[in-house]
Amino acid sequence: MPLDDERRARLESWLQEKGVRRDCIACGSETWRVGDVVAPPPTPSGGGTVVGGPSFPLAQIICEHCGFVMHFSTVTAGIAT
Ligand SMILES: [Zn+2]
Repeated sequence: MPLDDERRARLESWLQEKGVRRDCIACGSETWRVGDVVAPPPTPSGGGTVVGGPSFPLAQIICEHCGFVMHFSTVTAGIAT
């Protein structure tokens, strides 16, 4: 799910407020873009995967040089829908 302009701006402000580094840990580039929000599949627990189990929407921040992807919780960042 793509972020709308308002939530994209709030995410970028939150990243700055938290002091998130702007240099890519893989290549050192400082050119990033905000990607879509993704939800990882539920984690298997015990004897199988729990349908409807915990899954946290994640905002993607993608290095435009090497494609390294960082993920941030949309709940923690205050941009969850
Ligand atoms: Zn990179």
